[in-house]
Amino acid sequence: MRFLADGMLGKLARWLRMLGQDVVCNTQLDGNKLLELAKTECRVLLTRDFELYKRAITRCLDAFYIKEKKETKQLSEVAQRYKVRLEIDMDKINCPLCNTKLEGISKEQLKDRLEENTYKFYNKFWWCPKCSQIYWQGSHWKQINQTLSLSQKKSH
Ligand SMILES: [Zn+2]
Repeated sequence: MRFLADGMLGKLARWLRMLGQDVVCNTQLDGNKLLELAKTECRVLLTRDFELYKRAITRCLDAFYIKEKKETKQLSEVAQRYKVRLEIDMDKINCPLCNTKLEGISKEQLKDRLEENTYKFYNKFWWCPKCSQIYWQGSHWKQINQTLSLSQKKSH
């Protein structure tokens, strides 16, 4: 799916990108700009702003009003509505920072950029060709999966 998240949904945008979704989120855009972009780029508008949601609907745009404040609940609402699988597939992940498709990279190529222990204990790495951020399934990965499984539960 192609989404456009309003400036209040930065965290949700990062989660959806990790789940392989194409999400534009720019805190500089006001309501009019958001509606314009949703239309020209055919994106589903995700918003916490009910007035903006109503304006999008009256213009026949696909929009989803997010009531929840907690990111796990937000994620679970969007996942249910748009059938997004709450599982990370490293071959489809988008950079959470800049929304670019990640690419696999050999660890030898990253030798100068990784800490010794990371280099020693992990073998699979991905990087973002746009912002150069490096990713691997390190100790933080447990937390990521915990959040996703929380989002999978319908009542929490
Ligand atoms: Zn990036």
